Amino acid sequence: MPPGRSGTTIRNARQIVSLLALAMLWMASFAARASRAQATAAAKLHVDSQRLQGTLEKLSEFGRNSEGGVTRIGFSETDLAARGYVSGLMKQAGLQVRVDPAGNMFGLRAGSEELPILLFGSHIDSVLQGGNFDGDVGSMGAIEVIRALNDGSVKTRHPLEVVIWSNEEGNHFGVGTLGSGVAAGMLGPELLDRRDEQGLTLADWLRRYGQDPSHLTDARIPRGALAASLELHIEQGPYLDESKTSIGIVQGIVGIKRWKCVVTGFANHAGTTPMDRRKDALVPASREVLAVRDVVRAESGRQVGTIGYLRAEPGAINVIPGRAEFPVELRDLDAARIDRMWERMQARFKQLDREESVETNCTTLEQVDPADADPALQAAVRDAAKSLGLSTMELPSEAGQDSQQIAKIAPMAMIFVPSRHGISHSPKEFTSWQDVANGAEVLYRAVLLLDDRLNRD
Ligand SMILES: [Zn+2]
Repeated sequence: MPPGRSGTTIRNARQIVSLLALAMLWMASFAARASRAQATAAAKLHVDSQRLQGTLEKLSEFGRNSEGGVTRIGFSETDLAARGYVSGLMKQAGLQVRVDPAGNMFGLRAGSEELPILLFGSHIDSVLQGGNFDGDVGSMGAIEVIRALNDGSVKTRHPLEVVIWSNEEGNHFGVGTLGSGVAAGMLGPELLDRRDEQGLTLADWLRRYGQDPSHLTDARIPRGALAASLELHIEQGPYLDESKTSIGIVQGIVGIKRWKCVVTGFANHAGTTPMDRRKDALVPASREVLAVRDVVRAESGRQVGTIGYLRAEPGAINVIPGRAEFPVELRDLDAARIDRMWERMQARFKQLDREESVETNCTTLEQVDPADADPALQAAVRDAAKSLGLSTMELPSEAGQDSQQIAKIAPMAMIFVPSRHGISHSPKEFTSWQDVANGAEVLYRAVLLLDDRLNRD
């Protein structure tokens, strides 16, 4: 943490906020009615926008990089130090803090009835050269919700629990959503012997985090233990920012399917093989790349398809490629659409095989099912945003999330706030303090709505 650097992103943000405030004052002198509306809207906030900004700025000091972002990899000294700060905040807010054997940190606030827990939070680890908002907004936002409840002496029926999931980004040990994956029972002791570049295992790191790795499976959260799980997060995509929408109501987290395709032709002399007698693997592979894009674009919706590389063998300037390899990755909220698109792609591949006298074989690599957000929870988020007069948009999360894991054991919903220019996993990641406060206030209200609505018989 180099001294004297206060973070350009955050300083710029302050300047932008002050400029905005000035502009608003100026407008107010011309429109007293508009100014009264502003004041009413501001008075409605339960969360303290300044206090929340303060915790986010403090958190951004842990692992700050020269560009004003952070490098705070899960299971690192930097992460550990930041967790010390966060656990202090939790204790100050009166939460009962514990860390589970997977390194997930929880802060519990008792409820007035014996009911399952309302869980909310996010993660504080980052990618290499990451930003100050991914994960942090939802983590500090969750603690701010508790502080606001304390300020108003608000009691809830359900116990409330703030969570900081460990190693969400997965830069360390190559496993994303690690902590939540263990909690959901999707990951387990098979990970403990994984080694990082320093030769340390995950078990070693868990010990450094004060945990006994042999108890890893104790981190599993049984079905029924959670009444609901809410996560506030930045969108990481462009839709909210572009449309000037304040709150995203996440419909679910997209599923991902991946295949590896190999086109087999016949490698031969580039000079002596006549054009009509070639079995060039690269040409049909190139046409298959285009076919993938065409099929994905042929449907309306936000589905995406990517071919991340195309490799030709033997890869010499004077040899006709006899083999070509490429992966296909498809993402969408609707698993049936992914399957339908893949069937169409395969039909196109077969046709191209016939035309080009080659053979294409694809094998399944990895499948992550889409995770749907719970309709009742989405409704609570929608009502919370509506009560504040904020504009909303329903959208999928195209990025993986801890909530994707938690969806397997509890009803889940996510609240998105705008990411400027859709930039994320970068020091340039930015969300305005107003949007951050809006998101935290929506979380506050959604928690209270769910506390009121859930488990009534
Ligand atoms: Zn995140």
